[in-house]
Amino acid sequence: MKCSQCGCEDTKVIESRDAGDGQAIRRRRACPDCGYRFTTYERLERPQLIVIKNDGTRELFNRDKLLAGLYRACEKTSVTNYQLERLVADIEQNLYACGEPEIQTTKLGEMVMERLPALSEVAYVRFASVYRRFTDIAGFERELSQIKKRKTSEPLKA
Ligand SMILES: [Zn+2]
Repeated sequence: MKCSQCGCEDTKVIESRDAGDGQAIRRRRACPDCGYRFTTYERLERPQLIVIKNDGTRELFNRDKLLAGLYRACEKTSVTNYQLERLVADIEQNLYACGEPEIQTTKLGEMVMERLPALSEVAYVRFASVYRRFTDIAGFERELSQIKKRKTSEPLKA
């Protein structure tokens, strides 16, 4: 990498270390000519994901927005921030792994709903009620009985 001070073509890496959770590497570099020191970050390049909303409009996938929705659903439950971070990271990994540049918002919601009951039933029901916009109590009760059925048929992993 070129030195931004003197234009020397050949700066040296003097230190490399993991920055954060193994998702980035921080490098200290020095210019052998002028002695200028600077820092660069190296990250995995990920394409931007597009979310297609129900009305057909598109927006960039925003992990913070997803996380904010989950925090709301998990208010006053025992679910920790760390668990939610992991849930979102898992979903992101799946999204990038499948290689599709666009995802329907319904699919994204389903991915959350597949994972949320393992953390909290209350959070799941809250999320589902916002997401599916239950218009009647019957729809809400159907959802509840489905969770209970699922719980008895396939015990959740810890
Ligand atoms: Zn230099």
